[in-house]
Amino acid sequence: MKVSKLFMATQREIPADAEIPSHQLMVRAGLIRKCASGIYSFMPIGWRSYKKIENIIREEMDNAGAQELIMPALLPAEAYQASGRWEKFGPEMFRLEDRGGRSFCLGPTHEEPFTEAVRDTIRSYKQLPVTLYQIQHKYRDEKRPRFGVMRSREFVMKDAYSFDVDEQGLDESYQIMYKAYRRIFDRLGLDYTIVDADSGAMGGSGSQEFMVKSPVGEDGICYCDACGYAANEEKAACNVPAADTSAELPVEKIHTPDVKTIEELMAFMNAEPSEFVKTILNDIDGKIVAVMVRGDREINETKLKNLYDATEMNLAAFDDVEAVTGAKVGFAGPVDLKKKIEVIIDNEVSAMKNFIVGANETDYHFKNINIGRDFTPDRVVDVRNAVEGDACPKCGQPLKMARGVEVGHIFKLGTKYSKALNCVYLDKEGKENPMIMGCYGIGVSRTLAAIIEQYHDDDGIKWPVAAAPYTVIIVPTKVNDEENMGLAGKLYDELTSMGVDVLLDDRNERPGVKFKDADLIGIPLRITVGRRAGEGIVELKYRADGSSSEVSYDEAVKAVRELV
Ligand code: ATP
Ligand code: MG
Repeated sequence: MKVSKLFMATQREIPADAEIPSHQLMVRAGLIRKCASGIYSFMPIGWRSYKKIENIIREEMDNAGAQELIMPALLPAEAYQASGRWEKFGPEMFRLEDRGGRSFCLGPTHEEPFTEAVRDTIRSYKQLPVTLYQIQHKYRDEKRPRFGVMRSREFVMKDAYSFDVDEQGLDESYQIMYKAYRRIFDRLGLDYTIVDADSGAMGGSGSQEFMVKSPVGEDGICYCDACGYAANEEKAACNVPAADTSAELPVEKIHTPDVKTIEELMAFMNAEPSEFVKTILNDIDGKIVAVMVRGDREINETKLKNLYDATEMNLAAFDDVEAVTGAKVGFAGPVDLKKKIEVIIDNEVSAMKNFIVGANETDYHFKNINIGRDFTPDRVVDVRNAVEGDACPKCGQPLKMARGVEVGHIFKLGTKYSKALNCVYLDKEGKENPMIMGCYGIGVSRTLAAIIEQYHDDDGIKWPVAAAPYTVIIVPTKVNDEENMGLAGKLYDELTSMGVDVLLDDRNERPGVKFKDADLIGIPLRITVGRRAGEGIVELKYRADGSSSEVSYDEAVKAVRELV
């Protein structure tokens, strides 16, 4: 491809909504173009990288024996109603009606239609196992679309589904996908961790996530160097610590005017946040619930949602807080609630003594509150996020924390969908049994962004060869010079005939401008045809490490062959 002909949309300005390097670089290098919040077009250069990633995924899926097909993105409601997910997806599902008033959604994930297709096709145990997949756009009306294609509302997912006769079969199908995922992310050159994950809205028993380590990752990863345990923060269990055995002190009511934050309250009371217990009122599918965690901890939304099998969870509205506590927001506590609601305390709080809570009275807190004596919780559960230094749930050693981008997710679903949609097979005895399912997703567009997160510098993207839009860019420094352009053209023709993805920057621009663009787009190897063109000497420059050398024409061709 000649750069003069390339539909290239590089941009100097960084858009205000681009908060992370991959998003900024994808816009600057012209890989994507925003259409609306969380909705992007892929431009030619971006689409080339996208297709390379997609093809690696496709090759590994095919090698693993999965069969590709394509389902509609526009799907009738019925199957999702039968599985319960028409409700469960809540506002995240894009819904619409046809002219006849029939309900549809834009597929957020396709367990239901795959289950129906297998139900209608397979009768006997002899036809199992089978794993099917597609690579297709998915639609989710995310609460916070952001980071470009990392969390978008339309995105591409590779989703695969396995159908087996029993649990052992599922284990095998799952292992095959696990290995295929490792090969995919290895081939893409990603530095990733595999963590135990929450099964969430999908239902089911086991699941693991493939996390690309990155400071911009939205997921917390807890890991233990001692035993190798690794889990998503959403899932990592927090055990009950040893109980505080101090004597119970008498309750004191303290006037705490003008304290707005926990820090101000602690300074005022000369206490540590670990001596305080926050009482947070949540609206869980319309029900107000008080959740108590230690002052320096965060509620784990996933654990709380799972506890209630909830669809929607938000902080309670100010009005609700005031009605329940009888006080302004900021003074909620478990003692003397004006309105009876469920009070949940975190495991860790259950081991505490003589702690501080809000008094359900504006400008007042209680000191020396004790469970049993001063209030009785409805439930004691694990509802907080694990933090650095927590005991590893497996071996007890201190946990470490890192951030990651979830690029892939594999689940053992079991019979949730096969039972709901009557996807059964006949066994050897001629008896009907529900099929045992697994599902396996990769965010294809998100993976592209994750690669850029791990492969970039201040000048631009540093594509690994496997995902580079073009492997080589030839930069003649003087396009009007016959010798210079002649050598560049010859090299271009030779590399093209070798099947190499090569760009020839034939624009009449200063070399500096061309070098900048090549660096920004992140082409792995730049070959500059410059002042020594007459001697047949060119310069090689590798984007990965910035190393450069002057070599003969033949050596340049050899270097390209080695690279690909
Ligand atoms: P997240 O926790 O990031 O919202 P999820 O658990 O909802 O992800 P899955 O339903 O498991 O995601 O989807 C499979 C894969 O699809 C994810 O591993 C991720 O790579 C990708 N994915 C999910 N949501 C998005 C999105 N909004 N934009 C881009 N990719 C996404
Ligand atoms: Mg999600």
